Amino acid sequence: MKNKDNDTLQRFIFESTDIRGEITTLSASYLDLLALQKYPPQVELLFGEFLAAASLLSSSLKHRGMITVQANGSGPITAIMAECSQDNKLRGIVRGDFDNLGDLSTLQELLGKATLAITLEPEGRERYQGVVPLDEDNLSKCLEFYFYQSEQLPTKIKLASNSEIASGLFIQQLPPSSGDREESLEDWQRVSTLFETLSSDEQLQLSHNDQLYRLFHEQELRLFDAKSMQFSCSCSRQRTENALLSLGRTEVMELSREQGLIMIHCQFCSQEYRFSAADVSQLFDPPKPLLH
Ligand SMILES: [Zn+2]
Repeated sequence: MKNKDNDTLQRFIFESTDIRGEITTLSASYLDLLALQKYPPQVELLFGEFLAAASLLSSSLKHRGMITVQANGSGPITAIMAECSQDNKLRGIVRGDFDNLGDLSTLQELLGKATLAITLEPEGRERYQGVVPLDEDNLSKCLEFYFYQSEQLPTKIKLASNSEIASGLFIQQLPPSSGDREESLEDWQRVSTLFETLSSDEQLQLSHNDQLYRLFHEQELRLFDAKSMQFSCSCSRQRTENALLSLGRTEVMELSREQGLIMIHCQFCSQEYRFSAADVSQLFDPPKPLLH
């Protein structure tokens, strides 16, 4: 289903409260990612939830950088990750053995014993990672626990996905700016109780405005302009060269002798980077600038 909110992330606030929210719908960006890899349907759905979560959480990046939502498990899915940059570029991947999934579909069935890591990488600043066990019924609940544990901020998250759309809704109680804690607790209880009544179908079918109106029409709410989300891989020839340089001359030269042509595939977007023997020697022994 197409609507104007596809591939956007929108912030909203409840007037005269300390509650902020984010709402996102991914469609083309989600389908672009699905087209790159062939995942079974239940893996696609979970991947959609991870992507919607990364989109929602990218709003917490105040400077250039990246947020990653990743789970590692012992089940058929060994790793699932979605990454979103502050300038709204999404990428992600799922790894595992999907040959005998049958009708396994829940978070626990797909990931087994697993952990969920949220990593914030602001450019030029220190990386921050929080890890929680992935032992709730769904990803939304695990993320709520993460916010409770790591930031002590009451947070509600709802994620939904089908084969065409991944959608997410997020609200968070910020530390009260005014002194009245009781009032702010009441605000939160009222808003979060309404939040719980949104169904997955509504998330997948209604526009952002209609979802928010359906839930909060009695609240004073301000919806901000949409930011457009897109699939875009951050790989480049330059980054691949840096990776080769960090492997070291001896190793790369040997690889080059053995294989003739070194071919490096980006695991996210399948882009192929080729390095001939000449490229490799150029990389490690760049021509010296001429002296005048
Ligand atoms: Zn790539």
